[in-house]
Amino acid sequence: MIKKKVLITGGAGFLGSHLCEKLLNQGHEVVCLDNYFTGQKQNVVHLIKNPFFELIRHDVTMPFLIEVDEIYNLACPASPVHYQYNPIKTVKTSVMGAINMLGLAKRIRAKVLQASTSEVYGDPEIHPQTESYWGHVNPIGPRSCYDEGKRVAETLFMNYHKQNNVRIKIIRIFNTYGPKMHPNDGRVVSNFIVQALKGEDITIYGDGTQTRSFCYVDDLLEGMVRLMNSREDFTGPVNIGNPGEFTMIELAEKVLKLTGSKSKLVYMPLPADDPLQRKPDITLAKKELGWEPTIPLEEGLKRTIEYFKTII
Ligand code: NAD
Ligand code: UDP
Repeated sequence: MIKKKVLITGGAGFLGSHLCEKLLNQGHEVVCLDNYFTGQKQNVVHLIKNPFFELIRHDVTMPFLIEVDEIYNLACPASPVHYQYNPIKTVKTSVMGAINMLGLAKRIRAKVLQASTSEVYGDPEIHPQTESYWGHVNPIGPRSCYDEGKRVAETLFMNYHKQNNVRIKIIRIFNTYGPKMHPNDGRVVSNFIVQALKGEDITIYGDGTQTRSFCYVDDLLEGMVRLMNSREDFTGPVNIGNPGEFTMIELAEKVLKLTGSKSKLVYMPLPADDPLQRKPDITLAKKELGWEPTIPLEEGLKRTIEYFKTII
């Protein structure tokens, strides 16, 4: 194995902290960069004693210079509640963050991976979503700061690749869950588990018939690292997610069953532009990366519930 020096932006967040751990376990050197907006030092504190791990407070909207072999660009709030808190900052993080990381990759000839999202498909009109679908995004709606920011980031990645030969990889991540999600993150899996464990009402937005496909964090990261290591001329974008599709009512019922909670379902207004359905077509990931998810929803939920029991 060749030991690599890897920069992970957003490395103190949910996915980033798992990625730091995975790459250190594989024997690489990891630099974790974060401004702690939605991430926490707590997520990576156990890694600090490792001499091959470095933690740096920095905002990706500002240029950053370092010598590394690979960059995973994950910095960006991912939960609708957090990315809508300061929408201008969210756009800046995606767009200026991409420009800064691509400029760095160009200068030091590093390979750079962009954490894109299923949100580039917006409220999709085709189902399941393939990478060739251009999407259905409201450019001025409440989710646009995230969706359009991520779309521009993809544009920047493709153009740095075509114009400047920067080696790029684009992963379109579908809803991912697991241990180390922040209990107040606001995303549906963490909300339902925390509510169930506390005996509070389970908040279903809308009528609960909207669907999502939930991927366990370990599966997602395996796909992400395989993409980074994929053949040189494969840039993506590639969907990584679990094609199992569930309504929010089905998800709530599973959480209630697995926690043994007596919490009641309560119905609240559906947020504007909330996509009605989402499910990845993972044919490309299977073909190019030999990847498919291995952890079914119930198993992943059990592991996530065990984690939340330790912190609540
Ligand atoms: P997260 O909110 O837990 O992590 C994001 C991290 O980025 C946090 O540590 C945060 O502090 C940091 N950050 C935010 N703005 C920053 C800035 N300006 N400078 C430096 N650091 C900054 O979310 P996550 O679920 O770990 O998501 C990681 C990445 O994956 C994001 O880019 C997100 O858009 C993408 N993604 C995640 C999912 C998912 O379901 N988890 C789905 C699609 C895409
Ligand atoms: N949702 C819900 N209750 C909650 C949080 C979210 O019913 O407490 C719904 C939300 O309206 C959406 C789905 O769950 O339809 C997934 O929401 P999340 O914020 O996790 O991710 P995204 O909408 O970005 O896929």
